Amino acid sequence: MKLPTKAEPLMPGLLVVVSGPSGAGKGTLCNALRSEWPHLGYSVSATTRQPRPGESNGVNYFFYTPAQFTTMIEQNHFLEWAFVYGNYYGTPRAFVEEKLSAGEDVLLEIDIQGALQVKKQYDKGVFIFVAPPSMEELRRRITLRGTEPPDIIRQRLEATATEVAYAPQYDYVVINQDLRVAVEEIKAIIIAEKCRPFRRPIRL
Ligand code: 5GP
Repeated sequence: MKLPTKAEPLMPGLLVVVSGPSGAGKGTLCNALRSEWPHLGYSVSATTRQPRPGESNGVNYFFYTPAQFTTMIEQNHFLEWAFVYGNYYGTPRAFVEEKLSAGEDVLLEIDIQGALQVKKQYDKGVFIFVAPPSMEELRRRITLRGTEPPDIIRQRLEATATEVAYAPQYDYVVINQDLRVAVEEIKAIIIAEKCRPFRRPIRL
């Protein structure tokens, strides 16, 4: 039986960073994870790219002009930001800091440059590298998405080869061959991370 205890200090939430090459399926993976675990706070990124059909402001991204975005960089609005394939992307700092200090877990789905910046600030976060199963499959997925012109597709595929070299800087690698398996692996990683002794002090 658990006895009444002295006031327990609140543990900060877990910062989960899902990152990897474009087209590896991070978005689909995070959407599936969020629908199963709605308690994970999802950080909506800011971007200067145009909304795709079906995307709305404040849900998929916060959409800004390049001038607005650069002002926000100067105002230290972002936890990290990066220039990815011709557009700016950034994680609003306030949301992440507020949730974590309230003891809530936060999920970020960001590119590799961004993840490496976050790692410098939150070394206790968990960094998961999502890799596509093969170059052929990656090409198929990006082409199928139908949102990128051929020169951008070529650019993204070339970048992937360089990007996989960053995988050893992450805590975990998930190969996104089968969506179900990949979601289960990410859930297992989060569950295990929450059991680490520094996140789970024993107060008898
Ligand atoms: P897309 O334009 O396809 O939605 O995203 C392009 C790339 O930008 C993806 O690799 C995505 O993970 C990344 N991205 C989305 N939001 C952010 C962010 O806030 N910061 C960084 N660094 N990358 C992001």
